Amino acid sequence: SPTLKSAYKIASIPGDGIGTEVISAGVEVLKALTKKFDSFELEFTDFDWGTERYLKTGRYTPEDYLSILKGSDAIFFGSVGSPSVPDHISLWGLRLAICQPLQQYANVRPTRILPGTKSPLANCKTGDLDWVIVRENSEGEYAGQGGRTHIGCDHEVATELSIFTRTGVRRIAQFAFSVAQKRPRKMLNLWMVMWDEVILEVAKGFPDVKLDHMLVDAMTVRMVLDPRSLDTILATNLHADILSDLAAALAGSIGIAPTANLDPTRKNPSMFEPIHGSAFDITGLGLANPIATFWTASEMLHWLGESEAALGLMAAVENVCTAGIMTRDLGGKASTAEVTEAVIKEIMNL
Ligand code: ATP
Ligand code: MG
Repeated sequence: SPTLKSAYKIASIPGDGIGTEVISAGVEVLKALTKKFDSFELEFTDFDWGTERYLKTGRYTPEDYLSILKGSDAIFFGSVGSPSVPDHISLWGLRLAICQPLQQYANVRPTRILPGTKSPLANCKTGDLDWVIVRENSEGEYAGQGGRTHIGCDHEVATELSIFTRTGVRRIAQFAFSVAQKRPRKMLNLWMVMWDEVILEVAKGFPDVKLDHMLVDAMTVRMVLDPRSLDTILATNLHADILSDLAAALAGSIGIAPTANLDPTRKNPSMFEPIHGSAFDITGLGLANPIATFWTASEMLHWLGESEAALGLMAAVENVCTAGIMTRDLGGKASTAEVTEAVIKEIMNL
């Protein structure tokens, strides 16, 4: 009898800098997974939406980019940003131009120490640091409110407003509780005033989740001194962004850290990307660690419902780390291509 195979449409947007290197490594690995696990297919469409396109045409994307993306099941994104364009232009021109209208209000960043790698924290090994950071991804600093007056004068004033709505806080709180609930320790650590109020309300619906709140400065201290006491971490947009760079560094390198930009309602496709940026300092040198992108691919497969392949991919990555095949940021000597090849070999041997 014919077997039913799921086929997912993936929009791939490599973007700028090492984004193109890690996304092509990620696509290779995902294709290997479809060979190994014949329960699903992936159909990739590549888009050249990045700074080069912006410099030529004045736009990061074509006008109808949203309807193009809405036809996909997931978006696999590299990085956007280049030394030739100010950060706020590239951020709003591409990344937020996707996240905001597609209602990807939950930014999820799992972090743990992979076997075979070393945390800068003395005595911290695999299992001692195992967190999921949930970043509010639609409000706060992304409200885009503020401006400048008296430009160039000594009494020039700049304002930058962070905006929070009760609905926005409630939906991210509900999402974070449901993440915490599915984790073995069922713990949620979080931060802020209207936030506190709404979160205590939402907490009533999750009596099995242990809730703990603290200020963000105290959180940074705790991440370093007592990583075992943290589990699921919910924070506002900017705070969570900072906390997750710290988390990635504590886990060994920014080169391993993944992100999922989710629309938890599933009305729109979600977007998956490594945390790191375009890293122009190492672009073209074969030094980019592709693990953040492989982990990102694994998160994408989980979201699509292909958990067996998702877990298989992380097992392959862990085997490769344990064997010491790592890029320079993790203390190894392997190139992007060597790590990719090793991961594919492990996938085929699973
Ligand atoms: P963005 O503004 O887009 O976040 P950024 O300038 O803050 O970018 P990244 O591009 O993330 O920073 O780079 C920060 C540092 O980490 C750089 O020195 C870069 O070489 C290094 N780095 C980032 N990603 C990787 C990776 N995948 N592998 C190895 N090193 C990386
Ligand atoms: Mg950065």
